[in-house]
Amino acid sequence: MSERVLVDGFSRRVDYLRMSVTDRCDFRCVYCMAEDMQFLPRQRVLTLEEIYQVAQSFVALGTRKIRLTGGEPLIRPGVVQLCQQIAALPGLRELCMTTNGSQLARLADPLFEAGVKRLNISLDCLDPQRFRELTRTGELAQVIKGIDAANKAGFRNTKLNCVVMKGRNDHEINDLVSFAIDRNLDISFIEEMPLGTIHEHSRAEAFFSSAQVREKIAERYTLIESAESTQGPSRYWRLAEAPHIRLGFISPHSHNFCGTCNRVRLTVEGRLLLCLGNEHAVDLKAVLRSHPGQPERLEHAIIEAMKLKPYRHHFEVNDDVQVVRFMNMTGG
Ligand code: SAM
Ligand code: SF4
Repeated sequence: MSERVLVDGFSRRVDYLRMSVTDRCDFRCVYCMAEDMQFLPRQRVLTLEEIYQVAQSFVALGTRKIRLTGGEPLIRPGVVQLCQQIAALPGLRELCMTTNGSQLARLADPLFEAGVKRLNISLDCLDPQRFRELTRTGELAQVIKGIDAANKAGFRNTKLNCVVMKGRNDHEINDLVSFAIDRNLDISFIEEMPLGTIHEHSRAEAFFSSAQVREKIAERYTLIESAESTQGPSRYWRLAEAPHIRLGFISPHSHNFCGTCNRVRLTVEGRLLLCLGNEHAVDLKAVLRSHPGQPERLEHAIIEAMKLKPYRHHFEVNDDVQVVRFMNMTGG
């Protein structure tokens, strides 16, 4: 039998799926959620079994990499078992997870044993009080414990994700780089994206570009541009002083990665989003629930959905909300 692959209308092969396993979170990061978030009622959220079925269909259609995200994926009960099931799907090369790290002290070992290959851990600052302000509920010491537990459990190529905001954490950039060097972690700096309405700060005023982040880093280190790519919005650099780690710069406002985009996202409600910055979507939950036990119906819907994938996204740097959903609905 010939290999099955998903290809969109622009001949891009889609082999990377990000799945949000919950919209809930134990943190309320200022750029991600409102303080008084309303979460979805349970019946609107995919069950773990439904999430597994979607993963199974995507892998049958040639998906090589799946990333679980949220909300905070590690606060959904049963998530370790879900990881174990997905990691065992034949043909999948890599199951990864993006987490805030709050539960890793407890779960790093079981996740590693379940077959999760790589972790991205969010960390925006190293000052406990500022960490609390940015996350509203988070405890820095717990996250650092989690990062150390991940290293100890055997995770390699762990990456820190850091959203940079002018006046909030831009002065900590080099401390974060030095933290990453000491613990042998890659680190990515992310420009804030206009997802959902927030009142904490003006996104336009807090905007801190990847180029500005590199200028700061150049005050302490020698940056060397690298040709490495993951077909996503990251560009990579290395440091002459610490070549063992990789620095990524995620500039969602730029378009130069759209041409090679290989990814789609599944929201916690089962909507398949074809592009993070657009509303093109297909309701896979409706397909799953109206045709239970018929994976061929799900696969057909996924193949058809590829035709809707737009060529590029449309973010602008201002305070208008261009995409109404919050990041916790879609996963970063
Ligand atoms: N809770 C997990 C975490 O924080 O890593 C996973 C979900 S979180 C939505 C995924 C990533 O999206 C995090 O690294 C977070 O910093 C990033 N993120 C959330 N809102 C964002 C925004 N408005 N702009 C840019 N990145 C954002
Ligand atoms: Fe939670 Fe992650 Fe959003 Fe922070 S960025 S509120 S940790 S989902």
